[in-house]
Amino acid sequence: MTAVPAPPTAPPIFVVQEHWSKQRHFDFRLEISGRLVSWALPKGPSLDPSVRRLAVRTMDHPLGYAIFEGVIPAPQYGAGLVVVWDTGTFRPLLPKGLDEEAWLTRGRLKFLLRGQKLHGLWEMVRYREEGTSEDEDWLLVKHRDRFARRRFRLESLPTSALTGRTPDEIERSSGKWVMPDHAHPLETWVAPSARPVAEG
Ligand code: MN
Repeated sequence: MTAVPAPPTAPPIFVVQEHWSKQRHFDFRLEISGRLVSWALPKGPSLDPSVRRLAVRTMDHPLGYAIFEGVIPAPQYGAGLVVVWDTGTFRPLLPKGLDEEAWLTRGRLKFLLRGQKLHGLWEMVRYREEGTSEDEDWLLVKHRDRFARRRFRLESLPTSALTGRTPDEIERSSGKWVMPDHAHPLETWVAPSARPVAEG
């Protein structure tokens, strides 16, 4: 596959991947400076502004990973089912004079999401407690706006934002997976139904 550079005007993307590895969690990823800055949320995002969700910063991922949906085979790191639970674009609300990297380093990210399940104003805030682990712990919180929902349940929205499939359907149809390259997902994504189905 040939990498197609993203047009300079393309808004950055976000993706939330539900991941059944040893412990099921949600990987929340924002496109910042050409890579996916990533956090693992044990409980996933909540649309309820009174709920703050732990988000542990993890490895940056290449942009192409945003369209990964399928089963990561054992014994690879992260083996298990991955579902693109939500995806879309976002708008970073950068304070005057800060570029995206300085914004990230500062540890207080406000942004507007335009996904299929997640919308509106969100904030990701880093916090550190003395004497605790060296993991980078952040909190993700929904701001109060017309997209906020009290008593939100993630389980009410189980299907893939890319393909509309349920996790079971994805697991059953997952053949050999070829990792996409680092191209911009919005340029290169091909519906799984259009891909040749791997045997076995
Ligand atoms: Mn994960």
